[in-house]
Amino acid sequence: MGCLPPAPRETKLIGLFMNIQEQYFTCKKCGESKIWGKFKTSKTSIGGRCKVCIQCYNKTYNLKIELNGGLTDEQRRKKRESGIRSREKNKEKYKEKQKKYYLKNKEKICERVRKRAENMRPQLAEYGRKYYKDNSEKCTIRNKAYRAKNEESYKEWERQYRNERKDKSRDYHRVWRQENHEYVTERRMHYKDSLPTAYMITRLAKRGFTREEILQNPELINLQRTILQIKRLCKTSNN
Ligand SMILES: [Zn+2]
Repeated sequence: MGCLPPAPRETKLIGLFMNIQEQYFTCKKCGESKIWGKFKTSKTSIGGRCKVCIQCYNKTYNLKIELNGGLTDEQRRKKRESGIRSREKNKEKYKEKQKKYYLKNKEKICERVRKRAENMRPQLAEYGRKYYKDNSEKCTIRNKAYRAKNEESYKEWERQYRNERKDKSRDYHRVWRQENHEYVTERRMHYKDSLPTAYMITRLAKRGFTREEILQNPELINLQRTILQIKRLCKTSNN
């Protein structure tokens, strides 16, 4: 491979080759015009770069390996380790590069992650369950804080979730109620005993009032509450 003119730090002819790193050259292979830094480094070339761009060089290199039956395990291990070393050494540069790559290929990456998660669903669920079990206290605190911070979007999400899965949700709750019969009964008794507004509205609706009528005449709610209180008093005094 022929070589490009040397970089300024490697030559005495700095005046002549000034700003070479900002100059464009034509790749011998693909014919594209690229900036100096995009050319393959070369220890034997005077300027430290040869006339073939990095992309073309890698393509030829990979093809050669493929024709020879691919990398051996040992070569693969070495390659991986060298990659790790290089990333360790140029942490900041890699971070920047990764960020750029992510922004450019966001959709592709998201799609890939989604697919992978779908394929690994059982394992992920198992992992999540185990993690939650081992760190339940930490998780509860974190979840509560997160929820408090995003209360509105949570509510919206729950509403949407319920609407989209009405049948499923109904079935689930039916089974849950059957399985927790005692708890449900107790809760229901307590609910009725405390005479909450929501319960009054239900009772009024059973009497034939519409929701609008009730909301426009809030005194109905108090009236209903009084009626129930009297009924209960009569009941206890009869007993
Ligand atoms: Zn090229």
